[in-house]
Amino acid sequence: MTSDRRFADMLHHRAERLGRGDPIVPPLVSATTYHLPGLENAAFKYGRMAMPTWEEVEEQLAILEGAPVVGFPSGMAAIAAALFCTCKAGCEVILPSDGYYTTRLLTDQFLAPLGVKVRLIATADMDLADFSGASVVFVETPSNPGLDCCDLALAARKAHAVGAKLIVDNTTMTALLQRPLDLGADLVVAADTKAPAGHSDVLYGHVAGRDVALMARVAEWRKLSGSVPGAFEAWLLHRGLETLEVRLARMCASAQTIAQRLALHPRIKALRYPGLPADRAHAIAKRQMSGFGFLLTFELEGEAEAEDFLSRCAYVTQTTSFGGTHSAGERRARWGDAVAPGFIRFSVGVEPVEVLWAAMGKALGR
Ligand SMILES: *Cc1c(COP(=O)(O)O)cnc(C)c1O
Repeated sequence: MTSDRRFADMLHHRAERLGRGDPIVPPLVSATTYHLPGLENAAFKYGRMAMPTWEEVEEQLAILEGAPVVGFPSGMAAIAAALFCTCKAGCEVILPSDGYYTTRLLTDQFLAPLGVKVRLIATADMDLADFSGASVVFVETPSNPGLDCCDLALAARKAHAVGAKLIVDNTTMTALLQRPLDLGADLVVAADTKAPAGHSDVLYGHVAGRDVALMARVAEWRKLSGSVPGAFEAWLLHRGLETLEVRLARMCASAQTIAQRLALHPRIKALRYPGLPADRAHAIAKRQMSGFGFLLTFELEGEAEAEDFLSRCAYVTQTTSFGGTHSAGERRARWGDAVAPGFIRFSVGVEPVEVLWAAMGKALGR
């Protein structure tokens, strides 16, 4: 994870532009209007078209992605942009049946009525699935919440062989741990709300891609639909991104330790963590990810036992979402995910691992 220069380059992305006396970190500019005696050569014209603080974040993300980036006010806004820019009436889109459920709700409620056909395939079945007939293939790996994985290079080859575009939701990994564009994806979408912002106080998302015409369409979608991020959120994300690599290093290492110990605990069933050699996603995870992430899932006996564990475990916030500094646990069945009542999605935070494990062990009973 630390072997490449992208993160260092991201930290110093403003260096070459800095004049004497300039602030090292970007100022927060929330102006909607800009001095415009003529339209020519104006870097900024109107806030819905471009804002200085978004561009600072897009520059950071573009370095991490190795591709141009368009920022959005949430992960779902980025997903909506990617889908509305690639789907049209009569086309078929393949979605993971076990991925982030809001993506399925969006397509069911807003794309299907416009004549888009939706085909659902489980993430673990993507590698063997036939993509014939699809115009857009959307995958999420590891999937949220089940943490199944699919082969991104294979998905890109199969999608392109039938003339489809591949969109990858890279939220659970971030650009530091998985590089879908290098593996052939046409677009990456991600919720920067999670680990990139990292402090549970910003909604943000982005689309990245190397297809110039497609990315121009994504930028046009933002301008015309008005799905624009706020300057303050951009500024907070810029700050969060500066520590992404150190937070991920801690979180992934702790998740590996905790997963290994949970695997030996008699009360834990159906443990999933791609970093465990026994996990069914381990082989593909090892090939295409440069870290195994900070999410793990497991089951306790039932709803009552899972809620009891979550309420008694110190240092674990009972909340939805993931990727923040605080460890967080949630029973996903409460949102209607197709999982067992005692299924918990656990996001490992930056607490020192032995302190966190002691609390978990105590709440589980040794
Ligand atoms: C959270 C999440 C999203 C949506 O992000 P928001 O910022 O909440 O809109 C999309 N995909 C995945 C995999 C997520 O976990």
